[in-house]
Amino acid sequence: MSDLTLREAIARHGLDARKSLGQHFLLDPSVCGRIAALAGDLTDRHVIEIGPGPGGLTRALLASPAAQVVAVELDRRAVALLAELAAAHPGRLTIIEGDALKIDVTTLAPAPRRIIANLPYNVGSPLLVGWLRQAAAIEGMTLMFQQEVAERITAAPDTPAYGRLAVLSQWRCRCDLLMRLPPGAFSPPPKVWSAVVGFTPRAEDPGDALFRAMERMTAAAFGQRRKMLRGALKSLGDAEGLLAAAGIEGSRRAETLTVAEFDRLARELLARSV
Ligand code: SAM
Repeated sequence: MSDLTLREAIARHGLDARKSLGQHFLLDPSVCGRIAALAGDLTDRHVIEIGPGPGGLTRALLASPAAQVVAVELDRRAVALLAELAAAHPGRLTIIEGDALKIDVTTLAPAPRRIIANLPYNVGSPLLVGWLRQAAAIEGMTLMFQQEVAERITAAPDTPAYGRLAVLSQWRCRCDLLMRLPPGAFSPPPKVWSAVVGFTPRAEDPGDALFRAMERMTAAAFGQRRKMLRGALKSLGDAEGLLAAAGIEGSRRAETLTVAEFDRLARELLARSV
């Protein structure tokens, strides 16, 4: 199997790319190697890959000093192809057939865990938010998204891309946009550019209740981003009291708030709802 080129393996298994599964494959081993390298030193790390597809990035991860790779793939055709790769790497590659949206990644491999993936674009954001909730149990993530999503994750306040995804991501992790790739790097090429974001979880674990409060806060604030916060936060109860307690002017708009200011608001919201 490892002697077959990716194109040969794809042809043998009839793995023609399906749009419904967000399939845009990376077939150039040097590009796959560069993405794996962006994850840093993987010595003794347990790597979780989501959506390995034909396994280009998987092969690069297996070439690293990672302890093992556990890969979750929804497409049965790809799972059959990957079974051959697993047989060629006994004990180092486990393929799980399933929907990553329904799987708790912390059950897949012990710590220290890294998630490394060229994500299916249609479910990239919900997958990310699920992992941010569990970021304390993850050592790091190196994830490819559509460039527009990568820019929303890493956006600064007072920019059009700044919103819920930026606040949740940057609240839980240091986020770095590490690499941009043109459509032609993929087969078939998507319509847009892609980009890799590196996530380094912050030491402090907010816990479930505060994470949920932050989700409610950012949903309300950015749900009506043109409104002043004293109006936008009304759905959460005493908006004026909440803002005053967090030391934030009610006339400000969500996109002007720093992540630290959102943190204060989420803590106030939690304190008032218990
Ligand atoms: N990693 C491969 C590569 O770089 O060539 C494939 C990347 S492709 C963008 C996304 C992969 O995720 C596809 O193989 C697709 O079948 C898989 N996928 C889509 N939805 C999924 C889900 N909910 N759970 C697990 N895998 C999924």
